[in-house]
Amino acid sequence: MSELRELYQEMIIDHGRHPRNFGPLADADHHAEGFNPLCGDRIKLQLKVRDGRIEDARFEGVGCAISTASASLMTEALKGRSEEEVRALFDEFRAMVTGEGERRGEPPLGKLEVLGGVQEFPSRVKCATLAWHTLLAALRGESSPVSTEG
Ligand code: ZN
Repeated sequence: MSELRELYQEMIIDHGRHPRNFGPLADADHHAEGFNPLCGDRIKLQLKVRDGRIEDARFEGVGCAISTASASLMTEALKGRSEEEVRALFDEFRAMVTGEGERRGEPPLGKLEVLGGVQEFPSRVKCATLAWHTLLAALRGESSPVSTEG
């Protein structure tokens, strides 16, 4: 378990320092901004959706290692998925990081599993879910920034 945990921590640090899909997305057709006032994390997410599926996703912003790593891993996990699949993925992800609700094991979280340790740090749960709340706002077409508080 400790080896696995170290591997997970290394992946979080790596994605936090070298986020994937970071920067503006040309031809984006969905976007949203999110803010986690408890930590100061800010994210701007841009998506390209085609035929009901997320073709591309990129993000910008400043935040702690957890929020940056979570956004980085999320953008990797989104590509090719429909909005419905993305919601199911978030339900499963949220159950993992909050420890609330039942994990169904579906859909598989893949690399997102590395953030499971967040469950032991309740103050960081919002860092890990900020990108996802921002994603849902982008898919809903909301233009006002979302906040993890209220
Ligand atoms: Zn944070």
